[in-house]
Amino acid sequence: MLELKRIYWTRQTLRLVMFGSVIWLFAACILAVAHPGSNQRPTSAIDVMRPMFNAVLAAASTPGLLIIAVVVVAIIIRGRDLRRRDPLRRFTRQQRQEGMARANGQCEMETGFRRRCSRPAEHGDHFYPWSKGGATSLQNFVAACSRCNRAKGAQIPSPSQQKRLERRRLGYVNARELVRVGERRGLAGVFKNLS
Ligand SMILES: [Zn+2]
Repeated sequence: MLELKRIYWTRQTLRLVMFGSVIWLFAACILAVAHPGSNQRPTSAIDVMRPMFNAVLAAASTPGLLIIAVVVVAIIIRGRDLRRRDPLRRFTRQQRQEGMARANGQCEMETGFRRRCSRPAEHGDHFYPWSKGGATSLQNFVAACSRCNRAKGAQIPSPSQQKRLERRRLGYVNARELVRVGERRGLAGVFKNLS
C-alpha cells in the first residue's frame, strides 16, 4: 500500500514554510527600512543608507536562510521524483480494460460533497502522478472522466482522498485486492510499495 502520509505532509509543510518565510522576509525588510535603528544624526546620504542597509541585512538573514534551505530540499525532492519516473507512461491495453472494468466504466473521482462522480470514464489516470514517480500499474490506475482528469492534474492526492476512494471501491469492486489505490516506484527503478 502506498503510504501517502509522509510524502503528502512533507510537501505541504515545505510549501507552508516557504510561504511563511517569504512573508517574514517582506515584513522584516519593510520594518527595517522604516526603523533602521540609528541614533546618530545623519549628515549625508551614506549616513542614511548605511544603517538602513545593515538593518535590512540583519532582518532578512533568518528568513533568507530558511528560503534557501527550502529551495535546496525542493531541488533534492524534484531530482528523486525524476529518478522514480516510470519509463512507460501509457497504460497497456490490458491495464486499461481491467481498470475500466473494475470501475464499471464510471469515473472513480470525487465531485462535490465527496461523492463519486457520475460521468462515464474516458481516461485511465495515474492516481499518484506519473511525473512524481507514480507507477504505470493497475494499482495506480483510476478511471476518470475528462473533466476530473483535467481537474486532478499532477497533484499528489491527500491521504484522506486515498482512504475515501478505497472505501468507495469496497462498494463496487468485487475482489478485495483490487480496492487498493496508489503506487509509487522506488528509487532503484523497481516497483516498490512503501510501508
Ligand atoms: Zn469525473
